[in-house]
This record gives sequence, structure tokens and C-alpha cells, in this order.
Amino acid sequence: MSSIKTHDYELPEELASLGSNDKEEKNKIEPSTLYLVATPIGNLADLSARALKVLSGVDFIAAEDTRNSAKLLACFDIHRPLISYFEHNKRQRGEEIVAKLAAGQSCALITDAGTPAISDPGEDLVRLCGERGIRVISVPGCCAAITALTLSGLPTGRFVFEGFLSTQKSERRARLDFLKTEERTMIFYEAPHKLRATLDDFAAAFGEARPISLCRELTKRNEEAMRITVGEAVSYYKEHDPRGEYVLIVGGCPQAEVQAQADWASLTPAEHVAAYMAEHPEAKKLDAIKAVAKLRGVPRNEIYQAVL
Ligand code: SAM
Repeated sequence: MSSIKTHDYELPEELASLGSNDKEEKNKIEPSTLYLVATPIGNLADLSARALKVLSGVDFIAAEDTRNSAKLLACFDIHRPLISYFEHNKRQRGEEIVAKLAAGQSCALITDAGTPAISDPGEDLVRLCGERGIRVISVPGCCAAITALTLSGLPTGRFVFEGFLSTQKSERRARLDFLKTEERTMIFYEAPHKLRATLDDFAAAFGEARPISLCRELTKRNEEAMRITVGEAVSYYKEHDPRGEYVLIVGGCPQAEVQAQADWASLTPAEHVAAYMAEHPEAKKLDAIKAVAKLRGVPRNEIYQAVL
């Protein structure tokens, strides 16, 4: 098969000609339109033919980090005006972008990696375009969350995307507390320097036995998906330094556990200890206190004080 070569990336000829055959109308760049263009998360060959065409054809490109994106665009020989759009300039820059769109220009929004509007300020620009009646078109492709989910080996039928947890300890723990009885598979993004603390928080909230898949370096040469338990992950990363960006996929709470938690939710700690001892006649009071503290996710002393 013949191909068009763009640096180290080869595009099959029939795909490269997207703009010059009968598909032209469908893939034509429209004026006054914002294109959300997914870019690779580590492997340049994952840029789609349609993404390439849109990026080469729009009036300008808005990028989260223009230096990063300039490198990506240079790899594909794309030379369009580039402006920045990121968390700290999104209000003013969003207005400027929308004004250009309203005046008839076309814009492609890209992020450092993956799908715009997933854990980045793209969602604000999409909302603004909606409010101003500007058309938005998605050019789909890589998304780290979905790539990791499919590799995790955990149930994919129902899942929730949690993105980054708060950097504030109390907010992070409150969120995990809320997720304790979440039955669906959960997806988190995490940076390497915060991985150990997050795994400790997972162990406290979900228990050490909960299955987890730690996915790193996705689509890159050293792509890895570890399928272990939360407790094993805590131990592993005591011995090894976290490297690369991570997506953490955590198995949902088993239904029996959800039911058990619902059963004791209405009990006081003292009633809960009594109920535990009635169910486990062989258990000593101290064992019951330990077990109840673990079940309720509170310090042992709290239960001890309550049954005194
Ligand atoms: N919009 C992007 C997407 O569609 O996936 C996500 C942007 S978010 C700012 C960046 C986070 O995505 C990283 O901290 C990491 O959790 C995850 N991520 C991105 N690329 C990755 C890769 N190659 N391997 C593992 N995780 C990745």
C-alpha cells in the first residue's frame, strides 16, 4: 500500500486524501466552528487522519501549552497560528476565541495530550460556545481514562470517571469516603509524586483487598498495566519509585459489602458492637471493637469510647 510520509508517521494514501474525494463535503472545515481535536497520549501514530486534516485546515489552534503543542505540530508539518488557552487565562482568552469564531474563523482546541475537555479547561470553552450559539465538533481519539479502563481487566460495563482527586487532604478523604460504597469501576488520574499518598488513602477508604489496576506510560514503549490489590500496590510502591503519569482503575464495592454497610448504617457504634458479638459469639469484646472500627472506617478508640 502506498503512503504519505510525515516524518516518522505514515498515513495510508486513501486516508491522506480525505479532503479530495467524495468524503470532502463531510470533512470540510466549517467557518465559525470550534473543533475539539484529540491528540496522542504518547504515541504519535495515534493522531487520526481526520485530526491531521482539521489541524492543518483551521484558521488557528488553541493549545493548553503552546511550546508542547508546537513540537507535536512540527512533527506533522502543521503550521497554523497557535494561541494559548489554559486554566489561568481561560476567561479572557475564551472570550477572545469566541469573538474570532463569531467573526467566521475556525479553531481547533488541543490539550497537552488526549481528549480536550477531559480534566482540562476545554469544558469551559465548550460551555461558552454553547451559550453564544457557536457550533462545536468533536474529532475523537485518545483518552487516557478509556485506554486504561480497557486494559484494567476490571468490569467495564458500568464505570465512573473521578479524574484528579483534590490536593487538599480533607477534601480528598471526604470524596473517597463518599465513594466507599460505589459499585461501579472507578477511574482516577494521578501524578507520580502523589501516587503513594493516594494509594494510602485508597487503602483506608476501600480496604486493602480491593482490586486496582495501575496503568502507566500508556501507548508508550514501556506501557504497563499492573492488576493487583490496593494493599499490594501500597507495598509495591514502598519499594519502587513511581514513574510516569498514572491512571488508576479501582474495582467497585462488592454488593454484599454495600448491603452490610446499609444494614449497620442505622446502628450506633455500641449497637453495632452488640450486633457483631451476637453474630460472632466466639469473638471477644476487643475483637468486636476492632472489627466494627474497620467496618465503619473510624479509629478503634472512637468505638472503644462509645461502648464504655
Ligand atoms: N485530556 C486527557 C485525556 O484525554 O486523557 C487527560 C489530561 S489530564 C490533564 C493528564 C492526566 O492524564 C495525567 O496526569 C495522567 O493521569 C493521564 N495520562 C495522560 N497520558 C497518559 C499516559 N500516556 N499514560 C498514563 N496516564 C496518562
